[in-house]
Amino acid sequence: MKLLKIAAIFFLMGLPVFAEPAPEAQVFQTSAGPVKITPMIHASTLIQAGDKVIYVDPARLPSTAGLAPADFILISDIHGDHMDPAALAALSKDSTVIYAPPAVQTTVTKAVTIANGETKKWDKWTIEAIPMYNITRGPEPGKFYHDKGRGNGYILTYGDKRFYFSGDTEAIPEMLALKNIDVAFICMNLPNTMSPEEAADAVKAFRPKIAIPYHYRSSKQNSDVAIFQKALEGTGIEVRLLDWYPQAPQTAAGK
Ligand code: ZN
Repeated sequence: MKLLKIAAIFFLMGLPVFAEPAPEAQVFQTSAGPVKITPMIHASTLIQAGDKVIYVDPARLPSTAGLAPADFILISDIHGDHMDPAALAALSKDSTVIYAPPAVQTTVTKAVTIANGETKKWDKWTIEAIPMYNITRGPEPGKFYHDKGRGNGYILTYGDKRFYFSGDTEAIPEMLALKNIDVAFICMNLPNTMSPEEAADAVKAFRPKIAIPYHYRSSKQNSDVAIFQKALEGTGIEVRLLDWYPQAPQTAAGK
């Protein structure tokens, strides 16, 4: 009864009422406090740390109802499964800060540009822009789905933990050379990025502590994340499989 009363007071104050964490939310302890990462859809990711709300590539969301407005947004590339002006408008408030590569900034004019190789700070975070690009795959000979220099993968450092979001990429040398990654979010969809086998080989090279496949569905196929998981058995790298397509499974497929 007492709990109900407290819940009622919280409700009237507009505070969350004993909110259960989303089932797929992952909490990572860092020296600067916990970081909670929740898969939304495809590459869209919610990060909560301190009192800050961060979205990575919020795009093609089934709904923005009930989502907290963003303090910070990171965008990796120009494709619609990463850069979505409607989602940005729905999630933004006056104080929202957006970091994006220059090719995105021409559309998302509010964004602060961050290019391959640059490192910037925001709040307690350090953001490193890592290249992401194709080395073999494209829509036709001589063309690539993702040109080198256009988009960014990101390493986000909070306290003593480093989180890597690959963006849309093949197993480029810059990825294979990464060091000290605690949690790696790895893309794998064909024909646009990597196969699960290629992604597993890449992960074996740079050895993050935890690898989480994301961005694994395209308009042509749903990559088998079990192949990725099996390929990493016995390596000491923990694989966590999360559901990145909880609703409207076909709507978020993309490049
Ligand atoms: Zn994509």
